Amino acid sequence: MTAEIEYNIVEIFESLQGEGFNTGMPSIFIRFGKCNLACPWCDTNYNQFERWTFSRILRQVRSYGAKNIIITGGEPTIQPKLESLLDRLKADGYFLAIETNGLKTIPPQIDYIATSPKLLYQHKYRQRCIPSADEVRIVNDGDILPFCEQIERQIQAKHYYLSPCEQQGEMNLLDTVRKLGQLNQRLNGRKWQLSLQTHKLLGIE
Ligand code: SF4
Repeated sequence: MTAEIEYNIVEIFESLQGEGFNTGMPSIFIRFGKCNLACPWCDTNYNQFERWTFSRILRQVRSYGAKNIIITGGEPTIQPKLESLLDRLKADGYFLAIETNGLKTIPPQIDYIATSPKLLYQHKYRQRCIPSADEVRIVNDGDILPFCEQIERQIQAKHYYLSPCEQQGEMNLLDTVRKLGQLNQRLNGRKWQLSLQTHKLLGIE
C-alpha cells in the first residue's frame, strides 16, 4: 500500500473572511505551515504545524458548511504537492481562494487570488512576482508609497488595498488613512481602499 500524501497544517477552521473584497464571506480556512519570508510583525504561527494526511484534511473540510475555501499560511504556494489537494477540493465543488505573498506561481486550480506583497522584501518583488491578482493588499509598515506604486506597475489587480500595521499593540490607522489620501489624489494612479482586519476587531478567529 502506498503512503498517503501528507501536508504541513497549522489549522483548519470555518469563519468569516475578515479582510479585503470578500469581507464577511463564510469560508473554510486551510492554514499551511512554513513561509519563504519572515516579516517582523507577522501574526501567524506558521511554524507550529502538524503533518495531516490527505484524507484527514478532506474529512475536516467536509465537516463544515461553507463552499468557499481560503488557502492560506504561512505561504501556501511553497507547500509540496499542493495541486493534488486542490484538484480534489475542486472536484468536490469548492470555490478556491488563495492568500499569498505573491512571489511564487499560483496553481491553476485557484479561482481567486489575494496577494500581500511585503515592503521589507521589495528587492525580491523587483526580480519576480506574480503578474496579476484579484486583489492586492499591502500592509503600511514603512515608507510604503513608492512600494505601492512599484506593485501597481508589476501586478495588475481589480482591487488595491492598504492596511494598517499593528506592532506592539499599536495600529497606525491615521498614518494609513493619510497615505491612502496621497495615493488617491494622484491623477493617473489606481484607486486604493482601506482594508481592516475586521476579524481582530470583532474578536473572531
Ligand atoms: S509573508 Fe505572511 S505569513 Fe510569511 S512571514 Fe510575512 S506576514 Fe507572515
